[in-house]
Amino acid sequence: MAQMPINLAPRPSTGEPLEPAQIEKLILLGQEAKKFAYCPYSNFPVGAALLTLDGKIFSGCNIENASYPLGTCAERTAIQKAISEGYKEFRAIAITSNMKNDFIAPCGACRQVMREFGKHWYVYMTKEDGTYDVRTVHELLPASFGPDDLHKTK
Ligand SMILES: [Zn+2]
Repeated sequence: MAQMPINLAPRPSTGEPLEPAQIEKLILLGQEAKKFAYCPYSNFPVGAALLTLDGKIFSGCNIENASYPLGTCAERTAIQKAISEGYKEFRAIAITSNMKNDFIAPCGACRQVMREFGKHWYVYMTKEDGTYDVRTVHELLPASFGPDDLHKTK
């Protein structure tokens, strides 16, 4: 199977959390997952690959539905797969789309789902060619509401 060329952008804003080879692998797996996207309504395929703290990778794609609100994003598909198999500590997720000139960013709902599982892991937002921008979950969703807040009423 032919692999797409990967060009690693030089810069993350928050320090480099993963080795370059790990980043490349995560992006490639996200691009592979994108091929399975079920998106007949938007025709906007998205793929994601999620790296757990212990090194396992779960991929996901967007899955739309004729009842539009039931559609699920690629990021949440990957996270739900991981959670359902007993993994809930994450290091990074790579998100891929066919956008050539912009980095694909997670929607607000996905940011909140990511934040449920920690603030300090990394989100690699890529262009179609594999170049990326990276932010922490906290940077994408500052002043967030999370699990700890439920215990602050006493
Ligand atoms: Zn989303």
